Amino acid sequence: MIVFDLRCSAGHRFEAWFRDSDTFTAQAAAGEVGCPVCGDQKVEKALMAPRLNLRSHARDEAAPAPTAAAEVPPAQPPAPADPAAERLMAVQGEVMKRLREIRREVEANCDFVGDRFADEARSMHLGETPARPIYGQTTEAEAESLREDGVPFAAIPWLPREDG
Ligand SMILES: [Zn+2]
Repeated sequence: MIVFDLRCSAGHRFEAWFRDSDTFTAQAAAGEVGCPVCGDQKVEKALMAPRLNLRSHARDEAAPAPTAAAEVPPAQPPAPADPAAERLMAVQGEVMKRLREIRREVEANCDFVGDRFADEARSMHLGETPARPIYGQTTEAEAESLREDGVPFAAIPWLPREDG
């Protein structure tokens, strides 16, 4: 910790503690160091008055009477990013990437049957048409009906393509 004699633009002098000189510079630049008298945030390091007991010195008398040393609490450093949130973001990013890959795989290898998916899937399940990989949409009711009939299918989140 280091103590600085500070002076606001109105000429008030006060003392404040900082972790180091850089911390003062950063906090002052961010407007986090306020004058305890007037709240002015334009503070600068006052010239270090020599700590000599020379009360009769003209410069000392010209200077404003020292106010009580004000304890300006050092501002909190910015909270570190929540590691759990960062991990979640990373996982979500990975999941999105995989889902896009799945979409590409499906589009490359399966026939798009649109809203006829339920009919096509059931028909193949019953052996009425040759089995082939298809994809398309179902309503909730159709999906439920397929499940009841034991038709294998998977519902996958269909992400927009990265290229729009
Ligand atoms: Zn002031």
